[in-house]
Amino acid sequence: MYTTKFSEIVQKYDVVLFDSYGVLKNYNGIIEGARETMASLEKRKVPYRVLTNDASSSPKMLSEKFEIGGLNIKTEHIVTSGMMAKSFLSTKSINGKVLYLGTENSSQYIIEANKEAISISDYDDSLIHEIGAVVFLDDEGYQWSTDINKAVNLLRKRTIPVIVANSDKLYPVAKNDVSIATGAIAQLVESILNRDFIHFGKPDVQMFAFAFDSLIKEHGELNKSKVLMVGDTLHTDILGGTKFGVDTLLVLSGNTSVKNAESMIQSTGVAPDYIAESIAH
Ligand SMILES: [Mg+2]
Repeated sequence: MYTTKFSEIVQKYDVVLFDSYGVLKNYNGIIEGARETMASLEKRKVPYRVLTNDASSSPKMLSEKFEIGGLNIKTEHIVTSGMMAKSFLSTKSINGKVLYLGTENSSQYIIEANKEAISISDYDDSLIHEIGAVVFLDDEGYQWSTDINKAVNLLRKRTIPVIVANSDKLYPVAKNDVSIATGAIAQLVESILNRDFIHFGKPDVQMFAFAFDSLIKEHGELNKSKVLMVGDTLHTDILGGTKFGVDTLLVLSGNTSVKNAESMIQSTGVAPDYIAESIAH
């Protein structure tokens, strides 16, 4: 397969959008060469944003995690799918508390939307009429065996909005192993109830639009043809970037391996404009 160098491609663009997991970091920490590449973009004052399907932590916490790994990414340069869910919750009128499946950290997105958050772990049937919406935020923070059943039973009885703040179905935890993510749990419940929930995150274009608007506010007029989206996943990063109308670069440092990239592009029909091994060099 023909791959090219990130450093050469990036020269053609004024702005870069990065996915996080599989591009800047992975289960091992910061990806080799990412520190140098990001430092060089900072030095050349190339504007960028990090777009991540993540509702488990706030941008501030994500920024702090990057910093521990030696990567300096400002809070305001991080756009999460949790932020999109938060903006939905804050503009929608919701009658009651927002029940969430996730960790206490993730419930920050509900609290910042000025809604009262209640964990599925603390929920029982006596509270059924107090709940105004349900949000899937994270795969951790609750007992799958009991708490997913509680959510199913609540939603069988109540027709209230259900938000999936991260639609990713899995995430890599080792070289060849994955773990079930929030999106897969939500999809299980959707299929049981035969209902479609409200999904946030790439490949939907909201996060791209949010990042683009914030870049315009900071840097003035921008041309989409001068924006490059860099990601490791075809059906989220590359499809999302393509739908938003920007050029895309697939890196092979995460979800898509050198071995299966070609066949995945063929079978999905999602084709990046460029392929590079990683953002190093
Ligand atoms: Mg990724």
